Amino acid sequence: MMEKLKQSKVAALLKSTDYDRMVNVKGWARAHRGSGKISFIALNDGSVIHNIQIVVERDNFNQEMLKGITNGAGISVSGKLVQSMGKGQNVEIVATEIVLYGTADQELYPLQKKGHSMEFLRSIAHLRPRTNTFGAVLRIRHALAFAIHKYYNDRGFYYLHTPIITGSDAEGAGEMFRVTTLDPVKPPLNESGEVDYKEDFFGKATNLTVSGQLEGELGATALSLIYTFGPTFRAENSNTPRHLAEFWMIEPEMAFYDIQDNMDLAEDFLKYLVQYALDHCIDDLTFLNNMIDKGLLERLKSIVEVKYERLTYTEAIAILENSERTFEFPVSWGVDLQSEHERYLVEQHFKKPVILTDYPRDIKAFYMKQNDDGKTVRAMDVLFPTIGEIIGGSQREENLERLMQRIKEMNIAEETLWWYIETRKYGTVPHSGFGLGFERMVQFVTGMKNIRDVIPFPRTPNNAEF
Ligand code: ATP
Ligand code: MN
Repeated sequence: MMEKLKQSKVAALLKSTDYDRMVNVKGWARAHRGSGKISFIALNDGSVIHNIQIVVERDNFNQEMLKGITNGAGISVSGKLVQSMGKGQNVEIVATEIVLYGTADQELYPLQKKGHSMEFLRSIAHLRPRTNTFGAVLRIRHALAFAIHKYYNDRGFYYLHTPIITGSDAEGAGEMFRVTTLDPVKPPLNESGEVDYKEDFFGKATNLTVSGQLEGELGATALSLIYTFGPTFRAENSNTPRHLAEFWMIEPEMAFYDIQDNMDLAEDFLKYLVQYALDHCIDDLTFLNNMIDKGLLERLKSIVEVKYERLTYTEAIAILENSERTFEFPVSWGVDLQSEHERYLVEQHFKKPVILTDYPRDIKAFYMKQNDDGKTVRAMDVLFPTIGEIIGGSQREENLERLMQRIKEMNIAEETLWWYIETRKYGTVPHSGFGLGFERMVQFVTGMKNIRDVIPFPRTPNNAEF
């Protein structure tokens, strides 16, 4: 018996030119064809979109075991890495030893057939990572997550872990999920007959966070530059291809940044992430370009090169009003822009990403810095082709009186925000930040049409199976 070989990754072997050595690979068969003297197994271990070809001289192996190696079977193969004469690959492995870990009954295995719809694959989210498309998406998702940490770490930002369970419901970014240990059938009631959250686990009503921003500001007003990268939750009952109930958000918050600095950072950050994917994920992107979205690579390259268009909300409304297009939701100054408006600006009018600033005060959150016109706030949204809004951000209101005035006008429960307000009492400074929806970014980079197909286990209304 030979010395136990160290397992190699398929990705590394496919690039290797160190031929005629013994190697071991482990993975899942994608196909097994040929039944005469020689058969060929296409083996994939998830390290790369490509399979490695295993050459099996059938007489050297147990025939029953070979029969069990069908699409989906888990196996270990040891053998000699040789230069391949066949087309489409540089190397192959001539097997000397095969261990069959687990078979996959071809009558039952849901991935036996190729070309399943995205809808069907969602119903087998436990197995879809084994498809080429989801393998590619998940590797790109990983690369982007890594690039995000690298980007901020290289620029002196600190990763701040903000809480997932929160006692403030003041952000107003969306409907929240309640977190409670109270008896759902017979909750304790107070004198007015309402649920008494004083009896609850935290002694108050708590929810899953919709954003880490408010806590992020606490970090930035001490560490200067921070970012959060964590899960956020919104109980929005919107069945759109761009909304999840559980999604990940990156929220940098920068002391001493004004809105211009904020826009510069956002644009640089987005370009960096796209370039990172082009530099590190080209095999997967090429696959997606061929199979999912023929314009993908071109779009990604153009986004890195162009300067994003910057204009105010008021200017954008004028463009939309003067456009020939009839929108499902009519536009006028004061309305919140819908995805159709955002995409018109980006895809038809400017033909490049757009950063809109200075939105009407009444459609934005209480913490945004008020402009002197008394009508608008220093908000900035970054709009992307195919996606619409990918980033929402603003310069924050650092003036205590102006902040308090907005909190009162908007009937926000001040007592749940006393800690936030104190940052404006003690050493208040100008600061800015934004939130990038991670899945929308992954959608953009992969070309996937539906946000449910860029997260391993999507959470949407009526869907929390896996
Ligand atoms: P939208 O108008 O598209 O619902 P929003 O105005 O609610 O977005 P923000 O509160 O500004 O979004 O959140 C910051 C970013 O988080 C957005 O720009 C977007 O990329 C992302 N995002 C917001 N809601 C969702 C969601 N339900 N699922 C996935 N990503 C989201
Ligand atoms: Mn929303």
